[in-house]
Amino acid sequence: MKIQFLGGVRIVTGSCYFLKGRNFNILIECGMYQGADAEAVNRRPFPFNPAEIDCLFLTHSHLDHIGLVPRLVKEGFKGGIITTSATADIVELILYDSANIQESDTEWQNRKALRMGLELKEPLYLPSDVDRVLPLMQRKHYGKVEQLCEGVRYRFVNAGHILGSSTLELWYRDDGKEKKIVFSGDIGKKDNPIVNDPVFVEETDYLTIESTYGNRNHKSMEASIDELVDVIKSTFRRGGNVIIPSFALGRTQDLLFILNKLVKQDRLFRINVYIDSPLGERITRVYAAHPEYFDEEARQLFNIESRDAIRISFTRKVEDSMALNRIRKEAIIISSSGMCEGGRVRHHLKHNLWRRESSIVFVGYQAEGTLGRQIVDGAKKVEVLGEDIVVRASIHTLGGFSAHADQTELLDWISQFKNRPEIFIVHGEENVSLDFEAAVKERFSYTTHVPHVGEEFDI
Ligand SMILES: [Zn+2]
Repeated sequence: MKIQFLGGVRIVTGSCYFLKGRNFNILIECGMYQGADAEAVNRRPFPFNPAEIDCLFLTHSHLDHIGLVPRLVKEGFKGGIITTSATADIVELILYDSANIQESDTEWQNRKALRMGLELKEPLYLPSDVDRVLPLMQRKHYGKVEQLCEGVRYRFVNAGHILGSSTLELWYRDDGKEKKIVFSGDIGKKDNPIVNDPVFVEETDYLTIESTYGNRNHKSMEASIDELVDVIKSTFRRGGNVIIPSFALGRTQDLLFILNKLVKQDRLFRINVYIDSPLGERITRVYAAHPEYFDEEARQLFNIESRDAIRISFTRKVEDSMALNRIRKEAIIISSSGMCEGGRVRHHLKHNLWRRESSIVFVGYQAEGTLGRQIVDGAKKVEVLGEDIVVRASIHTLGGFSAHADQTELLDWISQFKNRPEIFIVHGEENVSLDFEAAVKERFSYTTHVPHVGEEFDI
């Protein structure tokens, strides 16, 4: 069998891996690329015929792992889309949201193109393309070995990253002997809120492992929670707001859970939390509907209907979101997008970045080239919604809230293998993946690769 790395290598977004067997073709992930030139990269023709792919596995529901699925289906894919039940529920929300963004962005670009006499574009995909994705979804549970086809079995185990996230184990018999490959998916760190800790896999011949934080360690979650409490208290004392750019999926629910816990522990009082993301609200409701994926603590604490701890307001309409801009102090506004590239958070940045009283708290990964990265890197002035805004607010990065394992935890995850797998390092910025490779070699002396896009290996 061959594995070809089609995306999400030497970069963190656009995950896509292709397994070519004698009798089957399998894709693992079909993610959207989110860096520079995204528009062009996401429109590139697939280097395979989608109609000839037998099935697609999805390890979890982040857009960089699932964002091109509607395009795949639009271009002829008819196989099963195999994932966990919670992932399937979230995939549906994320893809419709993405289709709506594609549609409105293209409309905006076309209006501009029309004025300039340029060629008009079709959206990457439409909500009607997402309609055709849903019937293909197959919902599975953690821990059960399933037969895919003659000679291929698989099992999902919990990856501890976000609700429903998984590591995929795949056994295949291509020419006689059975072999195994594992796709780590995005690995969570221990003690991530809400979800259980990642499961270790004990043996495999080949391993494809993420390396988002492969060259550094996070501050502990406890240190980050202490810092969050300090930031909130000092910001409120100064008479400002706390703006938290956050992905609608994962981090928003983690933050709600943590803030709720802090109020219940009497470490914070009378806080008003605004979730200014309609998608964030819908996903929070999917979380609430899947307590079977919760850890013990979350089972007791995660109840969005209970208003006894924090006061949560979900802002649905644009007018409600704009009304938040008039709040001058003591609001915690959690809004997407997490890297400030789009979404309502940009309005909150425009109204708070220039105010010394306010704080901007980053809780997630900020990719190169994004507005979030510019602010984190200490820019004195940034462009937000076409205006130059000076940065006077206090800026904080709380690394402990990352939903990804850090270097120590990734190495620890690898250390659980009882045999000596050959390792493919993916899903990291190029220098980070290479640093992680050096760390793996130093500790385990396994055969390792950091594949290039399009590179193929016999396995
Ligand atoms: Zn992820």
